[in-house]
Amino acid sequence: MIGGSAAGPKAAARARRLDQNAQITIIQKEPDLSMASCGYPYYVGGFFNERTKLLSTGSGILRNPDYYLNTKGILAKPLTEATTIDCSSKKVTCRNVFAGNSEFLVYDKLIIATGSITRMPDVHGRNLNGVTTLKSISDADFLRRVRDEGKVRRAVVIGAGLIGIETSEVLQMAGIRTTVVELLPQILSFLDTQLASLIEGHIREKGASVITNMGVTKFLGKNGSLVAVKLTNGMELPCELAVIATGVSPNVGLARNAGLRIGKAGGIVVDRYMQTSDPDIYAAGDCTEQYHLIIGRNRYVPYGDLANLQGRVAGENAVVGNEVTFPGTIQSGICKVFDYAAGATGLTEDMTKELGYDDTTAVIYAGLDKPGFMNGKTVISKMIVDNRSQKIIGFQCVGPGDVSKQVAQAAIAIQGGMAVKTLVNLDLPYAPPFAQAIDSFIACAHVMENKIKGRMRGITAEDVIQKLNRGDDMFLLDVRTPGEFEALRLGIGETLIPLGELRKRLNELPKHKTKEIIVYCKTSLRAYEAERIIEAHGWNNVAIMEGGIVAWTHSRAK
Ligand SMILES: Cc1cc2nc3c(=O)[nH]c(=O)nc-3n(C[C@H](O)[C@H](O)[C@H](O)COP(=O)(O)OP(=O)(O)OC[C@H]3O[C@@H](n4cnc5c(N)ncnc54)[C@H](O)[C@@H]3O)c2cc1C
Repeated sequence: MIGGSAAGPKAAARARRLDQNAQITIIQKEPDLSMASCGYPYYVGGFFNERTKLLSTGSGILRNPDYYLNTKGILAKPLTEATTIDCSSKKVTCRNVFAGNSEFLVYDKLIIATGSITRMPDVHGRNLNGVTTLKSISDADFLRRVRDEGKVRRAVVIGAGLIGIETSEVLQMAGIRTTVVELLPQILSFLDTQLASLIEGHIREKGASVITNMGVTKFLGKNGSLVAVKLTNGMELPCELAVIATGVSPNVGLARNAGLRIGKAGGIVVDRYMQTSDPDIYAAGDCTEQYHLIIGRNRYVPYGDLANLQGRVAGENAVVGNEVTFPGTIQSGICKVFDYAAGATGLTEDMTKELGYDDTTAVIYAGLDKPGFMNGKTVISKMIVDNRSQKIIGFQCVGPGDVSKQVAQAAIAIQGGMAVKTLVNLDLPYAPPFAQAIDSFIACAHVMENKIKGRMRGITAEDVIQKLNRGDDMFLLDVRTPGEFEALRLGIGETLIPLGELRKRLNELPKHKTKEIIVYCKTSLRAYEAERIIEAHGWNNVAIMEGGIVAWTHSRAK
């Protein structure tokens, strides 16, 4: 195995379990093995203090060369870089990173797991003290020192993807005033705009700043140390720390030089057996591109769960022949953002548009993850369904509730090819400490079913805002209680008629039965009841604002 962090050691361990006689060697450029890189932000943020936990098994055993040799009979060679692969003579040239001397290793089967490299913006001043990435364990060490010393007051994180957002959270929580700068119009591009805006709002509530639609042009320094980051609009953000988190690219130099096929998404091309264009060479993890199970072509998805799963398949096939397959990805991801989580699986609505899937239906649903009496917390979900097959093809979820469970359920439903008619009756485990009797995911599917059967017309908060900006003639109806209205209202020209009074006060609705009525409540559950009543009395242009006030992303009156 070339590469000793996630995919490489996973492949080695699997190969060993299935073949006790194979001679297995891991070549690893860095000093450490099996680093839990996904844990770096939480080490930096002080969620735990023992650095060795990043390098240990769940039982606390350090995964060093002795561990690999004694427990697994695997020779692990840290500080050793593979410099060339000769496919015809099946030899790998390795160089000792310190001493510089080289040696050859011969193989019957080779697994490449060289990971990714950080995409660095071409910006002057990247070498100043205080400019870093969060990619390696030494970056994590540096940032943890910064946190512990408490001298840095202001930080800028460049890039609002998963790692950028996780990093900004832990820096802000450490008392460092943090600004996230993102080139795209929104943060976390695995979410559609509305859900991303809800997360952005939460980040701001926690005191961090977010600047979107903005690039970085320069790191400004004084005496070799960072003093500010200059933005494309000329503004300078004074700071002592900048973390570059502008994404990663597959590390394919070694594979490319060996003549292996590199794909359009930039990664090593592998088949379902994780075999490269050379049958004796497998590849796994961030250095490969993955088959996307929904869109039917390769994409680059550098995620730790995929690296481990693929490593396992590559390791097995390398020793027993091609027996198992890794079918592909649906790009499931999640991250913690202060008191919220944000997760997604499958396609976003933006992706469906980009890819030309024009026949889809989306709904936004807000609910609680548990009953109110068990302190249920809000989850705001968006489900996307293909109209022809009525199968779920995408799901996103944000909020303080159990987002992970919602996204996990959706990922299984998408991979299982489930249609809405199956989702509406899923038999999931239920007891009040864990879930609602009808879980939020199923309730979201119920709303979807109502929508695709034409039983309700939904409208997003964003569309309502557009209508307001255009000055459209519409009647906005809030059906919550006066107490709720007093405490918080949207202030968009709405009329309050509580649901319990609606049947008696229908005369307060517009005279013309064709006038558009947009109805909402806290989550729009009561709004659905209201819509049914109003439509039964002859109004025929009624829409429910999906997700209600909970999913409203714009300013409110109170
Ligand atoms: C801060 C951070 C947080 C993350 N959080 C998450 C998360 O929450 N969820 C998630 O799914 N993913 C997360 N990821 C991504 C996840 O860590 C990667 O997808 C995963 O580590 C990929 O594993 P890999 O083995 O393919 O590559 P890597 O982990 O990058 O390992 C590749 C190894 O190969 C070595 N190497 C490269 N070239 C050579 C060579 N020529 N010779 C010898 N060795 C070589 C490298 O030094 C490296 O150690 C996170 C990543 C980071 C950095």
